Amino acid sequence: MRLVLLGPPAAGKGTQAEKLKKKFGLVHIATGDILRKAAEEKNPLGEKVRNFMEKGELVPDPLLFTLLENKLRGRDFVLDGFPRNLTQAEKLDRLLEDGIDLVINIKVDEKTVFERISRRLICPICGKIYREKKQKCDICGTKLFRRDDDNPETILKRIEVYKKYTYPLISYYEKKGILRHIQGNKSPEQIFQDILLLLKEEGIG
Ligand code: AMP
Repeated sequence: MRLVLLGPPAAGKGTQAEKLKKKFGLVHIATGDILRKAAEEKNPLGEKVRNFMEKGELVPDPLLFTLLENKLRGRDFVLDGFPRNLTQAEKLDRLLEDGIDLVINIKVDEKTVFERISRRLICPICGKIYREKKQKCDICGTKLFRRDDDNPETILKRIEVYKKYTYPLISYYEKKGILRHIQGNKSPEQIFQDILLLLKEEGIG
C-alpha cells in the first residue's frame, strides 16, 4: 500500500501516518523528521537545512532529494509532508513504477491550524503530540518540547507556503483520480476510523 497524506501544517498527518504504520505495517516517511535530523548535524548541509526550516520555508528540492531518494524505492509506505510542491510530486511519479494507491487530503481550516500549532507540544522520545498544557509525556515520562518553528511568525509563513506551493497538489492528484478528502476537525481516533473506511471503500484497506 502506498499512501500520501496531504494537508496544511498540524492537520494531523503525522498522527495518522503513525496509526497507519501500526495497522498496516507501512514505512512512515516524514520529510519534516528527516530534515529535522539533518538540521541537528553540525556540518554545512545541516546548517543549510536549519536555515530554511527556521524561516518556515521549504527546503530546496535538490537538497531534500539527496536525503530522501533511497528511502522511497520498493516499499509499502505512507508519506507525510512529501510531496509539498509540483516538482516533488512529478519527481515522485518518476521514481515509483507502480505509482501511488491513494492521496488522502486531511482538511483543516486556517484558524484551527494556528490554534493547534500554538499549543503543540511533542515528546522527543516517542513522538507523541499533545495539544493541551502538559510537562511530561503520558507514555514515557519524558519532558515535552515545542518545535523551533512552532512560533506565531513562522506559523504564518508556513501557512502561506502551504497555500502557494502545496495546495495546488490537490488538483494535481484530483486530475489523476487518486485524491480523496477527509474531514480533519475531529479527534485523531475519529479521523483514523474515517480513513480506514475510505481505504475499505477503495479496496485497499
Ligand atoms: P513538517 O514537520 O512536515 O511540518 O516540516 C517542517 C519543515 O521542514 C517545513 O516547514 C519545511 O521547512 C521542511 N520540509 C518538510 N518537508 C519538506 C518538503 N517535502 N520539501 C521541502 N521542505 C520540507
